Amino acid sequence: MIRKSLKKSLHLRRLEAAVRRVHASFPNKHLIEFDLSKFESGYKGEKSLEYYFSFLDETAYDILFNVRLPCKGYYFQIDAAIITSNFVILLDSKHISGDISFEHNHHQLVRKFKDEYTTYSDPIEQGERHSFQFQKWLKDHGFPPVPVFSKVVVTNLNSRIIVPPQDYKYKRKIENSVIKSTQIVERVNGYNKSLRREYLSEIDRSRLINTLIQHHTPSDTNILQIFKIPKELILTGVHCPSCHHIPMIKFRNYWLCTKCGCKSADAFKESVLDYALLCGPQITNKQLRKYLNISRSRSFTILRSMNLTSIGTTRDRVYIIPLED
Ligand SMILES: [Zn+2]
Repeated sequence: MIRKSLKKSLHLRRLEAAVRRVHASFPNKHLIEFDLSKFESGYKGEKSLEYYFSFLDETAYDILFNVRLPCKGYYFQIDAAIITSNFVILLDSKHISGDISFEHNHHQLVRKFKDEYTTYSDPIEQGERHSFQFQKWLKDHGFPPVPVFSKVVVTNLNSRIIVPPQDYKYKRKIENSVIKSTQIVERVNGYNKSLRREYLSEIDRSRLINTLIQHHTPSDTNILQIFKIPKELILTGVHCPSCHHIPMIKFRNYWLCTKCGCKSADAFKESVLDYALLCGPQITNKQLRKYLNISRSRSFTILRSMNLTSIGTTRDRVYIIPLED
């Protein structure tokens, strides 16, 4: 069964917030939009895996989406892990359209789409590194060694995988390591039939899942720094939860969007989250007033209604906006 479900990563949510909130006059706004479209496409690919996982026997497999683990001062990110008592499969999802060629000699993957070429680092090599890091991580956390396989899953079913015909050894490697999403069930069930030895007891397996969830470390990116966005270019006011127009107008019991007519009693909640995604999770009453263009008393009402944890005394109280990942 799915033990860690798929959610939008904090980085993707930060990019969404930046596209909503950064003023159109920012010269590099198109770069943020471009990055957002890449991450959205990746998320769409991962989302499509959920469908294929539903064909696996729920009792035999534990599945964790998006686990980022520390290893020797670095982090490695697994899109999805399928865990059984006999083996582990790490999946790296690639939502790429067009013709995909693997170039062993240059350690790269080349995508040809509408006569344009894009180069990526070789995901098979990355998968091998992840398997190695995962095995090291298992050892460091006191788990018995278990066979770990990595697969690159091409989730865009319209793309064409091109294998170099001359290099037989590499050709076999690609056929073994790169699969379309439609092959997941067949491959996993194949391993299940051939690998009968149990490496992880029920207790070990359950502890492994809990330890992975505990050690998952969301990446702490700062979008304002990455794109060099001045804070003054962040739009202030409550945004419409439906069409993202800024600002909504406050009436006695609700906020109104003058663009799409959406009415919402708690539209401010998403805007407060945007603040945390872009500027960090701490906010004072004064900062919230300025950010949402509201009065001091309304700001207090909002902070109270969100049940936020706070630190400090009344004058310099700081509220913490939780950002789940
Ligand atoms: Zn609207």
